[in-house]
Amino acid sequence: MTTADFRIDHHALAALHAQETQRFIDTHPRSVALSGEDAAHYLFGVPLHWMRDWPTPATLHVQRAEGNRLWCADGHEYLDFCLGDTGAMFGHSPAPVARAIAAQAQRGLTAMLPSTLTSEVGRRLAECFGLPRWQVTLSASDANRFVLRWARAVTGRRKVLVFDGCYHGTVDDTLVDMDAQQRTITRASLLGQVHDLALGTVVVPFTDIAAVEAALARGDVACVLTEPALTNCGLVPPQPGFLAQLQAACRRHAALFVLDETHTVSSGWGGHARVEGLSPDFIVVGKAVAGGLPCAVYGFTEAMNGRMETAKHAAPDGHSGIGTTLSANLLAMAALHASLGEVMTAAAYDQMLATAAAVEARLRETLQQHGAPWTVTRLGARMELQFCTEPPANAVQARAAMDEGVERALHLWLLNRGIVITPFHNMLLVSPQTRFGDAQPLVTALGDFLSAVRA
Ligand code: PMP
Repeated sequence: MTTADFRIDHHALAALHAQETQRFIDTHPRSVALSGEDAAHYLFGVPLHWMRDWPTPATLHVQRAEGNRLWCADGHEYLDFCLGDTGAMFGHSPAPVARAIAAQAQRGLTAMLPSTLTSEVGRRLAECFGLPRWQVTLSASDANRFVLRWARAVTGRRKVLVFDGCYHGTVDDTLVDMDAQQRTITRASLLGQVHDLALGTVVVPFTDIAAVEAALARGDVACVLTEPALTNCGLVPPQPGFLAQLQAACRRHAALFVLDETHTVSSGWGGHARVEGLSPDFIVVGKAVAGGLPCAVYGFTEAMNGRMETAKHAAPDGHSGIGTTLSANLLAMAALHASLGEVMTAAAYDQMLATAAAVEARLRETLQQHGAPWTVTRLGARMELQFCTEPPANAVQARAAMDEGVERALHLWLLNRGIVITPFHNMLLVSPQTRFGDAQPLVTALGDFLSAVRA
């Protein structure tokens, strides 16, 4: 079958969506009832309003999660390719982390003092990510926010440079977009934001090195903050050599080079920077780093450490605006220790990457069999099913390849067949517990969907 004549039948798609909505309701009475109860106490009926971004008519309630499996309140079992949008990338409740948390829970949860495990955690972070100095936060959002603050403090420069289509958590400076004239604007969807974010941020298209150079040449950019590949607007891999060029441009213009590896830690042991031989000034790793417990880290060079200490000494006494009370708490340090030592191992990566390659191959084969003009873009253990024939080169192309109607129907179809993928775009993650055989139900369901919606 050729891809040239592949069309979605939008009537069939709408009928399928309605039928799958009813099927979900009929087969999930307990989740429907729990959603009804939650409606009385939560905004949009959920404890985090993003939980309504799933395409289900009622919110799926989780009864249990283990390895790469979820069980819902109605007792259905799911193959989980979402893995908490990366928080559970090394599997749900990795046994060493679960044991460490249980043991630490008997010995104190938080003291605003380092635990006896702290020095070993520091050694393990340095060994894994190749940077000598570290700070621990509660979330990747916080880590990014604090890195931007340090970058401005040590350089004395106001601006940060990010790429169109970026997402780095709830960091106001990064919640910006590029308009049609390539000007920086505050992201329209932001709630309650009253500041003009363009005053402190400049946005350029991903991998447009000329635009980066022009922005850096103005001399007011403290740092460039980017993911090694954009993973929050579909998956946009960098052009070969781009990251090295970006690093060189930062060095030339005395701007700091910051890599947010929260998602790209999927690329391999030590993250994407290590895999590609890059030398960022800072890296940020969140979500999965402590096995899914709220915890993130940022690492930096010895030179940066000196500049940060100088900046702090030079400032008047008082709040630095960096850090939170529960950061690096005793429980988080115990989880980090177990995760770095026994979960995020090179052997776990070997397993994940081999399985991910096999899942990618099976997905591609299925697309080909059905003549679907779509592609699978993979970054280690993370991959994205994209409604375009080639991986997008920037956010404009990535957005053009999105189709919310197809996406939501597909996600619901998969869910009703025991498969969970990330509700935002079509991201799939493979954990060390995911098996080659887990690709079969996924590709069967995808193939059946393509047959059902094809014109
Ligand atoms: N950085 C990246 C690249 C992310 O994708 C995200 C969240 N998706 C964050 C930071 C923020 O993580 P958190 O919501 O855990 O703070």
